[in-house]
Amino acid sequence: MSKIVIVGAGYAGMAAAAHLDKAGTPFTIVNNHDYHYLTTLLHEAAGGRGPGENYQVPIKEVLRQDSSQLVLDEITGIDREKKVVIGKAGQYEFDYLIYGMGWISEYFGIKGLKENSLSITNLDTAVQIREHIENEFKAYTTDGDKRHLRIALGGAGLTGIELMGELLEYLPELCKSLNIPFSEVDLQCIEAMPTILPMVAAHLRPYVIETLTQKGGKLRTNTKIMEVTPGVVHLDGGETVEAGTIVWTGGVRANPLLTDAGFNVDRRGRGKVNSFLQSADDDHIFIVGDSAWAEDENGKPFPPTAQMAEQMGALAAHNLISLLSGQPLKSFKPRNWGTLCSLGSDVGVGDAFGVPIKGVTAALAKEGSKAKYLWELGGMRLAGNRTKQMMRI
Ligand code: NAD
Repeated sequence: MSKIVIVGAGYAGMAAAAHLDKAGTPFTIVNNHDYHYLTTLLHEAAGGRGPGENYQVPIKEVLRQDSSQLVLDEITGIDREKKVVIGKAGQYEFDYLIYGMGWISEYFGIKGLKENSLSITNLDTAVQIREHIENEFKAYTTDGDKRHLRIALGGAGLTGIELMGELLEYLPELCKSLNIPFSEVDLQCIEAMPTILPMVAAHLRPYVIETLTQKGGKLRTNTKIMEVTPGVVHLDGGETVEAGTIVWTGGVRANPLLTDAGFNVDRRGRGKVNSFLQSADDDHIFIVGDSAWAEDENGKPFPPTAQMAEQMGALAAHNLISLLSGQPLKSFKPRNWGTLCSLGSDVGVGDAFGVPIKGVTAALAKEGSKAKYLWELGGMRLAGNRTKQMMRI
């Protein structure tokens, strides 16, 4: 029997695993936690909308067949020659590998940025942001230093804007609990480009700016972060922003494991795949999710989003089963349901199937997309339980 290994239980790895599990095809999934987490909701965890556990899905709740094996380990390398994935605790031989190890922050070589900023890359770092802000605000009540109340977010893409929206809902509550006037808080999002959110329709961007500004945030465009030293963001033009909390939301790149293992990668470290999602370097390896350099028929790379990752994972598993049974493989032709950007719990912007939406409609669409995802992953049982938990019913 062929040895199938999946590495990474993100959106892509979990979709592949759920597909193989349903088909009863034996495989091993290796992940560093026994849970999958909802990356698209990390801003909620950072803003304290719910405890970290709300954003976890135990992997065993999804993989229910005895033929599906979960191993907890941190992957550190891939030996393509020997067909082995190397972890801290063991080595995993494979005949077929589905690689879905996701992304890391992209620091673009900006001096001091990695060392002196927080990032919202996983559930632990999201919770860490919330705790850091709480500690800074508590420190203000002791020494009165206003820098504790300044938060600088670097980059106004979806991550930066969603985090800002969430914080603007949470910080007034935090201030109230600590007896700090919210007007003393300075939350600013610093963007290098002339506009925020390039992926959102241009006519909706003023709505985003107005919503976040009215809630007390500052959006600064045409302002590039050049360097970060402890507690200080250095901008082009020489201005500095002294902030107790600095969070980098300025971009992502693929997990470096593919580059390290000598795969053919693009400038963001993503591994080149063919239309069936097989690595250009080895057709026994499928690369899925944010680590995949997959292109549409016009040669445009698919963006590193959760909806792409889910569809890639499911297709890779389907194609792997087809390979094993001598059936033809299918090309990756994803559906795009739209992009949704939350601006807090009850407001958002984006598009649904290309139709621009904003306000409560967008917030409800985002809630609906969570439920849809959980239902597709684990059926009604998972969707029902999780939705109750998140809504604290
Ligand atoms: P991004 O690359 O989309 O945005 C980063 C922003 O930071 C850009 O606007 C960029 O101009 C800015 N920036 C870069 N360097 C800078 C500098 N030196 N100074 C100031 N600004 C700088 O990154 P992201 O927002 O983390 O998103 C990454 C991917 O994840 C995207 O594909 C996105 O679509 C996806 N994502 C989706 C959702 C969602 O669907 N709701 C949420 C978060 C992320």
